[in-house]
Amino acid sequence: RAKSDGRGMHCFFEPAMGEEAQSRRGLEQDLRNGLAAGQFELHYQPVVKTDGGDISGFEALIRWRHPGRGLVAPNSFIPLAEEIGLIVPIGEWVIRQACATASRWPNHLHVAVNISAVQFRQPGLTEVIVGALAASGLDPRRLEIEITESVLLQDRNGTLTTLHQLRALGIKVAMDDFGTGYSSLTYLQCFPFDKIKIDRSFVSGVENNAASLSIVRAVAALARGMGMTTTAEGVETEEQRDRIAAEGCTEMQGYLFSPPLPALEIERRFLSAEAAPAMPHRFAAA
Ligand code: C2E
Ligand code: MG
Ligand code: MG
Ligand code: MG
Repeated sequence: RAKSDGRGMHCFFEPAMGEEAQSRRGLEQDLRNGLAAGQFELHYQPVVKTDGGDISGFEALIRWRHPGRGLVAPNSFIPLAEEIGLIVPIGEWVIRQACATASRWPNHLHVAVNISAVQFRQPGLTEVIVGALAASGLDPRRLEIEITESVLLQDRNGTLTTLHQLRALGIKVAMDDFGTGYSSLTYLQCFPFDKIKIDRSFVSGVENNAASLSIVRAVAALARGMGMTTTAEGVETEEQRDRIAAEGCTEMQGYLFSPPLPALEIERRFLSAEAAPAMPHRFAAA
């Protein structure tokens, strides 16, 4: 049969593109199935008070337990989930799951949830959060949401309204990855944040990079002056911990204390009857 019209030949001329598009479609379908099949799970990383070393709460971090690929990190699927809008139902699941889990923990512990800019802009986010709080019975003051600067770039009035609604409920709002995005100081002045999370890229430099240390020092002072707390992300060494403490950051997170772990493991290690006596000052600075 003649192929003079070229139909049916198309795919042979763009093998690379075709493959990429196909694997993307495959991943997209996998993601949708994964959500339906309950393949997502939350791991929790302890947040430690710089003063005294007690745990103040945990950050919920999503993982995808893929049947063929093992445990998939969020950076490998969140961007696609955002692009195709699937981040909205995934993010709603995250909020409900994190609230339900935290409601089993002692009352002084908070849970922090990352909210994508795409999800943040969805009308009805406040209602989803209110619903998750009601269903779990979690005190709103124990919930923190983490947003990045990208949320603030669009629809400032809408963003401001949502942030005020959440804070009126008692929910705390943290700016995540501070210093890596657009980081306009105007944002700190215009938007009501309770907490600044100082990005790991600065924290990892505090031991041997004078600029990183200056930035951490300045951000901690700025936050203090504006009545906000600070969390240093990605503390991996005792020296980093001690520097961070000396600069007056309020809280720390990082592999030095614990990696993110499944809820049952968190409860066994940090919240069980056997772990409880060891908890105070467990992570205290030297
Ligand atoms: P993030 O919110 O800034 O979370 C901190 C990331 O640093 C986590 O990576 C955490 O596992 C990692 N980390 C913590 N301590 C250390 C350390 O000492 N050293 C190093 N090298 N890394 C450390 P993870 O879990 O892979 O998450 C990456 C990003 O994915 C998060 O950054 C957040 O932006 C996003 N993400 C995670 N879970 C969710 C979620 O449920 N919803 C949304 N929308 N985004 C999420
Ligand atoms: Mg975060
Ligand atoms: Mg962060
Ligand atoms: Mg980050």
